[in-house]
Amino acid sequence: MNFYIRTMKLIDGKAVSEAIKNQITDSVNQFTARGNRAPHLAAILVGNDGGSLTYVGHKVKACEQVGFKSTLLHFDDNITEEFLLNEVENLNNNNEIDGFIVQLPLPKHINADKVLLAVKPEKDVDGFHPVNVGKLTLGLPTFVSATPLGITKLLEHYNIETSGKNVVVIGRSNIVGRPASILLSNQSKTGNATVTVCHSKTQNLKEQTLRADIIIAALGKPEFLTGEMVKEGAVVIDVGTTRVADTSKKSGFSLKGDVKFDEVAPKCSYITPVPGGVGPMTVVSLLLNTLQAAQNRGN
Ligand code: NAP
Repeated sequence: MNFYIRTMKLIDGKAVSEAIKNQITDSVNQFTARGNRAPHLAAILVGNDGGSLTYVGHKVKACEQVGFKSTLLHFDDNITEEFLLNEVENLNNNNEIDGFIVQLPLPKHINADKVLLAVKPEKDVDGFHPVNVGKLTLGLPTFVSATPLGITKLLEHYNIETSGKNVVVIGRSNIVGRPASILLSNQSKTGNATVTVCHSKTQNLKEQTLRADIIIAALGKPEFLTGEMVKEGAVVIDVGTTRVADTSKKSGFSLKGDVKFDEVAPKCSYITPVPGGVGPMTVVSLLLNTLQAAQNRGN
């Protein structure tokens, strides 16, 4: 009988994001030393959704940490679509703002697509505008959606080879699954993979995941990916962050990933935890995009 012990490595998104934040701080210092004003990120938040308040709070705090200026525009959820579009236009025309985001979800009476389309592509540091998505598809320099960008930064940091590998992305949303699949299949350092995109209509998902060298789980279903769906030595990136009731927590909830960690981790070569994996990288990627927007301004 052959026994071997696999050494599973936990991908530490928190540590990697802190290291990148230090690099951003250095870049900001050099940028301002040349007489430029500090990069400035604005965020529009509509309503009081708990998750959105937390995410925007993290983004504002991260801006402070690296020496960016930040502005939060927080509106009631009864504002009209017209009012919001007007605010977007003001930010488009404000030369003191390098980039801005509109935190999703928006209230149902506001057409999110219309709002995201109104953001000037040069200031779209979330990378959601069709112009930026189009550039990503063509492999041109652009603002890449923060979560997929963060995933590639993690792969790069841990020297995880993607070229020629089979990657299975579970989820095809415009903000995670779809751009992640494009990035990993593009001709680039963290691309050149053979990518399969799975979704709710995929049949025999397990057949797909069992072939995967790298699995990106981004479907928002807690503990969906189980041990029997993963081959030995796979790399598993867990994007899921679902709030589930947890009376042992002061907040009353805990964050659950899309991966059944206890079962899957022992089979992996690398795996991200939730929290502390992809989440911190999303915030730092937004900072990278904002720094890029400021450098593009180059004043
Ligand atoms: P989404 O817009 O709801 O998309 C979910 C995707 O998963 C859809 O494409 C859906 O397929 C697919 N799906 C749903 N059930 C499935 C199933 N049983 N089998 C296979 N595919 C299935 O979600 P999202 O915005 O991409 O977010 C996904 C998760 O990532 C959520 O938990 C979210 O909170 C988390 N997230 C985390 C971060 C972070 O920074 N850590 C950032 C963004 C999102 P269809 O297209 O067929 O409906």
